[in-house]
Amino acid sequence: MVSGDAAFDRGGDNTRIERVVIVGGGTAGWMTAAALAKTVPAHVKIVLIESEEIGTVGVGEATIPSIRTFNNILGLDEFDFIRYTHATYKLGIEFVDWNRLGERYFHPFGDHGRHTQEFKFLQLWLRLKSGYARGMCPDPGPISDYNLCSVAAARGRFLTTNGATSTPGPSLRYAFHFDASLYAKYLRRYAEGRGVTRIEGRIAGTDLRSDDGFISSVTLDDGRTIAADLFVDCSGFRGLLIEGHLNAGFESWSQFLPCDRAVAVGSEPLSDFPPYTRATADSAGWRWRIPLQHRVGNGYVFSSDHISQDEATARLLSQIEGKPINDPHLITFTAGHRRSMWVKNCVAIGLSGGFIEPLESTGIHLIQTGIAKLLLFFPDKRFAQANIDEFNVATLLEYEAVRDFIILHYCATERSDSSFWRERGAMVIPERLKARMSLFCSTGRIFRYQDELFTDDSWLAVMLGQGVTPKSYDPLVDKIPLPEIAKNVARLRQITAQVVDSMPSHRDFIRQYCGA
Ligand code: FAD
Repeated sequence: MVSGDAAFDRGGDNTRIERVVIVGGGTAGWMTAAALAKTVPAHVKIVLIESEEIGTVGVGEATIPSIRTFNNILGLDEFDFIRYTHATYKLGIEFVDWNRLGERYFHPFGDHGRHTQEFKFLQLWLRLKSGYARGMCPDPGPISDYNLCSVAAARGRFLTTNGATSTPGPSLRYAFHFDASLYAKYLRRYAEGRGVTRIEGRIAGTDLRSDDGFISSVTLDDGRTIAADLFVDCSGFRGLLIEGHLNAGFESWSQFLPCDRAVAVGSEPLSDFPPYTRATADSAGWRWRIPLQHRVGNGYVFSSDHISQDEATARLLSQIEGKPINDPHLITFTAGHRRSMWVKNCVAIGLSGGFIEPLESTGIHLIQTGIAKLLLFFPDKRFAQANIDEFNVATLLEYEAVRDFIILHYCATERSDSSFWRERGAMVIPERLKARMSLFCSTGRIFRYQDELFTDDSWLAVMLGQGVTPKSYDPLVDKIPLPEIAKNVARLRQITAQVVDSMPSHRDFIRQYCGA
C-alpha cells in the first residue's frame, strides 16, 4: 500500500538535509548557490568553496532566452544586471560558412510568422515556395523575413517592453551576452546577501563514509574539514568529487563531436554592439564572436587532429575585428557526460557533469536545468535511489537532445574543402536525428518530443540553413486557396518590417536604458 497517512513517511527532522556544500565558484557554482539561497528552507545551511588560485574556465558568455527565467526567479532587475555584467542583448546566432563557403543563415529566437489554428507557418510558406516554383504566385522570400528577431538582428535594432517602454505590439524573444566573471560576482553578492557562506580554499581531499561510500566531508589544503549532507560538484571539467572520488565514469561523444580544444581571446568592443552571436565555420572547427559592451569575446573551437594549437591561434588572431586585449588562452575538453551526474550524495552541475561544445550557447542553460532538477528531486538524508535514477535519466535525455541539434550543424554540410569537413559530411549520426532529418526532407514536418529545448522554429532555421530542404508540404494546406495564403503572408512580411522600423538601434537602447 502506498496510499493513506500510514504509508506517508517524511522521516522526521533527523532525515532532513541540513547542510549543502557547493564545490566551485564558477558560473555553475554561483548559479546553484543563488538558486538554493532563494528556494530552500531556512534550516538548510549553504556553503560554497572556491579557489581563486585555481580560477574558473573564463568563458561562457552567450546565453539563450531561458536565462531570463532564471534571472526572473531570482528577482534580478534586468537593467541593473545588464549594467553590472556589461551585457548586450542577443536575438539569435548568425552561422557563416556552415553549409557552403560564402553562405550564411540566422538561427533566431522566437517564431517564424504566425501559426494559424490549423497550420504551422512553415507549411504555409512551403506551399507558397512550391506555388512560386510553378509560376503560380510571387516568391515569399526567405523564411527569416517573417521572424522578428532575424529582421531586427540584421538591422541592428532592439526593443523590449520589459519596463523600458510601453510600446504595444509583438515583442522580441531575447537572451544576453555577458561577462561571465561579472555574472558570477553578481550572483555571489546575491547569494551571500541571502546567507550563503563562501570559503576560499583549495580542496585537497575527501572523506568517504566507510559503510556506504557517501561523502562525509572535504578537506582543504590548510587542514580545515567541511562536512555536509549533500555535495554539489561545480568544480569544472575535473569533476573533483563526482569523478575524482565517486568514479562516475565518462561517456565520450567525440565520435560525433571531435572538437577537443578552444583558444579564446578578448578584443576591443565593436561600436554598433551587434545583437547576436556569430559562429563562423573554419577549416578545423568554428570561431565564435560574442559582442559585449566593453569588449568582444572571440574563440576558435577546433579538433586537434586537424589543426595545431599554434595554427588555430594564428587563425583566430588573424580573423578578429579590432585589437586583442589579452593573451589567447587554451581550453582542453572532450565532448560527453558523466555516466551518472548524481552519485550517492553528490550531484554534478556544470562542466563537472558534461560538456557539449557551445555552438548553440547551451552550457549555462544546462546548468539551469541541472539546478531545476536538483530542486525537483531535492533529497532527504535517505537519498532514495529511485529519486537519483530519475534525475540521471532526465538529465541524460536533455544532454542527448542538445547533442543531436549540434550534430545537425556538422553533418548537413556540403563543404569538402578540408579533411575535417569531408569527415563531418560522411559521419554516422544518431538514429533519432537521422529520422528527424528524413521526416523534414520528405514532408516538411518537424516532430518534437515533450520538454525538448529546441523548438520547431529552431530546428527549421538550422535545417533550412544547412540545406536540408523539404520536398513536400502538409497536403491539408491545399484547403486554403493559394492567393489567400500569398496575401496574408505578404502582409505579415510587411508588418514584421514595419515593427522593426519603429525600433531604436540596439546600441541606442543600451545607452538609454542600461549603459554601463
Ligand atoms: P569552472 O568555471 O571551471 O569553475 C570551477 C570552479 O571550481 C572554480 O571556482 C574553481 O576554482 C573551483 N575548483 C576546482 N577545483 C577546486 C579545488 N580543488 N578546490 C577548490 N575549488 C576548486 N556556455 C554557454 O552557455 N555559452 C557559451 O557561450 C559558452 N561558451 C563556452 C566556450 C568554451 C570554450 C567552453 C569550454 C565552455 C563554454 N560554455 C558556454 C560553457 C560554460 O563556460 C560553462 O558551462 C560555465 O562556465 C560553467 O563552468 P563551471 O562553473 O562548471 O566550471
